[in-house]
Amino acid sequence: MPYENIKFIILLYHKIGIPPEGAKFPGLFVKEEEFDRQIKYLKRKGYVFLTLSELKEVYDAHYNYSHNYNSDSKAELRNCLVSGFGRVNGPAFKKKRYAAITFDDGSRSVYSKGLKIMKENGIKATIFMVSGLTGGFNDWDIKNGEGGDEMLSLDELKEMMENGMEIGAHTITHPHLTQIPFDAAFNEINGSKKALEEMLGCRINFFAYPYGDYDEKIKSCVEKAGFTGACITETGVVKKGSDFFTLKRVAIRHNTDFFKFKRKIFKVKHFY
Ligand SMILES: [Zn+2]
Repeated sequence: MPYENIKFIILLYHKIGIPPEGAKFPGLFVKEEEFDRQIKYLKRKGYVFLTLSELKEVYDAHYNYSHNYNSDSKAELRNCLVSGFGRVNGPAFKKKRYAAITFDDGSRSVYSKGLKIMKENGIKATIFMVSGLTGGFNDWDIKNGEGGDEMLSLDELKEMMENGMEIGAHTITHPHLTQIPFDAAFNEINGSKKALEEMLGCRINFFAYPYGDYDEKIKSCVEKAGFTGACITETGVVKKGSDFFTLKRVAIRHNTDFFKFKRKIFKVKHFY
């Protein structure tokens, strides 16, 4: 079989920049130059960067339809890969290395500092937005004692989309979904999808569980709300047989220096 055992690496980021003095969660920041260096490294290694909806299409083309793989589906797969920024020629396609960058929360730094770097590198990402805080502040973190951090505005979200980025949902207010009443949890999940679809005029396909907090009931809520898949915070890759409603990722943090970054990629690629 031509397309067996392909692993997709989903990277998890939060904010781009240097943590301010006294930050309670400095780990959530990744410096601009580190982010740039990490992308360039993966590009050198032949990774093709996908949004999560593209990842699903490529995954299906590889695994779910491989039995009737033919020149038509090959063309389809290529079309999906060359959409937007994509530029897939022989080597990357043949190496079958895929990465998806995700940003949880919707910090404005992803726009003010990250977009330029991603544009320069010709890559795209998926941003999980806390819908109820669009244009506001990181209220859930502020409650936990963190300083104020601006969130993406509607115009910025739209500009990100124009640059090939995908927007996903990350609830309305960023609660621990297993710790609130079931109805409230369903509303946080379904409501954030509906709100973003209304605001952005497109289908919202992916979800990320705040704090990576979920159980079977929460997972079924996400499926019922009509999402295509959902990300957790547990370490791993997406591979044959992966559950799309508990997609594992590789978290990149402030203390992930270049050596650690390369080691993390190597480890998940070979041991997960
Ligand atoms: Zn979050």
